[in-house]
Amino acid sequence: MSIEQTWQTESVDSDATLVLAAALGSKLRGGEVIELVSDLGGGKTTFVKGLAQGLGSAEVVTSPSFTVSNQYKGDDFTLYHFDFYRLQEPGLMRNELAEVIADSQSIVAIEWGEIMYDVLPTERLTIHMSVIDDTKRLLQWSYPDSLQYLVPRLSID
Ligand code: ADP
Ligand code: MG
Repeated sequence: MSIEQTWQTESVDSDATLVLAAALGSKLRGGEVIELVSDLGGGKTTFVKGLAQGLGSAEVVTSPSFTVSNQYKGDDFTLYHFDFYRLQEPGLMRNELAEVIADSQSIVAIEWGEIMYDVLPTERLTIHMSVIDDTKRLLQWSYPDSLQYLVPRLSID
């Protein structure tokens, strides 16, 4: 069992969230799961747009709230973006998610993942986004040691 680490930062506007997420996207090695947690409008889908950019995808990221999942081809990996907001029952989607998670060439970003908690690996990056005001968001990251390489370094080290 690994101990959870935490890190937090403030995003001043949606562009800052895109930049932060793109930096994360460029550090991914394949097989990571990123869970995004916030209220509606917190910035989860905006974060996934940045992730796609950082992975080298030129595709336009749209919210998968109606389609449940979207995928984007990056330079090295495929980004799977799930949004379970409207999903009433896990059903077959549970198997699909488990398969994608098991693929080391995929990156999985999830909004409203609670319904799938039994399928999500404990070794995942979770980012809680909370609204400070119209354009500011607090982003609180928690992650196991094994995912430390995804987290921006403090400038003092
Ligand atoms: P969610 O997927 O959590 O419902 P979205 O990313 O779809 O949220 O929407 C977030 C909204 O908030 C967008 O309209 C975005 O432009 C706006 N926004 C304002 N400031 C920020 C910020 N710092 N980070 C992310 N989104 C922001
Ligand atoms: Mg969304």
